[in-house]
Amino acid sequence: MSFALTSMDYANYLKKAAAKIDENKNYISDLDAATGDGDHWTNMKLGFDKLIESYDELAAMNVSDMYKKMGMIMMSSIGGSSGALYGSAYISAAKALKGNETIDLNGLLLVFDAMSNAIMERGQCKPGFKTMLDALYPAVEVMKKGIADGIDEKEILTMAKKASLDGVQSTKDMEAVKGRACYQANKGVGHIDPGAVTMSYQIEVLVDYILEM
Ligand code: ADP
Ligand code: MG
Repeated sequence: MSFALTSMDYANYLKKAAAKIDENKNYISDLDAATGDGDHWTNMKLGFDKLIESYDELAAMNVSDMYKKMGMIMMSSIGGSSGALYGSAYISAAKALKGNETIDLNGLLLVFDAMSNAIMERGQCKPGFKTMLDALYPAVEVMKKGIADGIDEKEILTMAKKASLDGVQSTKDMEAVKGRACYQANKGVGHIDPGAVTMSYQIEVLVDYILEM
């Protein structure tokens, strides 16, 4: 198998990711209420609604401009930290994809790696700080290794999805170093990070979308 996502494919995936976030409203809101201020679902919903409203425009752009536009939408529509973080992440992905017509496995690694670096820089965070990064960074690592080892594309994607979902679970025992959870007496220990959950939904839905192509 060898895939090449067009911006139209990506815009279609966005609808599925938005639906997944929608379906998990209570779960995500409860997680953010436990360690933060309870608005993470609302923030992601605001951002994804705006992305979907721009479906036609996004689907008609090249993949680099599409990410740039998505970054601008996230930054302008979300007030919380996730707006600035996804904004920077998508704009970095746009730079990494410059000149590409579609997104193949190497392109997807460029996107995730650029997003991961942008989140670390903008959020001043590292893996293990109990943030959205903990659902992205492990997927990047697995993809880098899988590509270097010449593993089958489908398997790499499945491994990346699993690494992201495992990353989410791993945030439960982490002490928050960044984000609102670090202001809690117990640093959020015992609770999964909501931003990691919504990041993993996006990776999970994208991988499933590609595997079904
Ligand atoms: P806010 O924290 O401003 O209320 P959200 O509720 O939308 O914004 O997003 C919270 C999520 O953002 C957290 O669960 C965490 O994953 C992520 N986050 C917050 N601060 C940082 C940071 N400095 N670096 C990386 N991720 C962060
Ligand atoms: Mg919040």
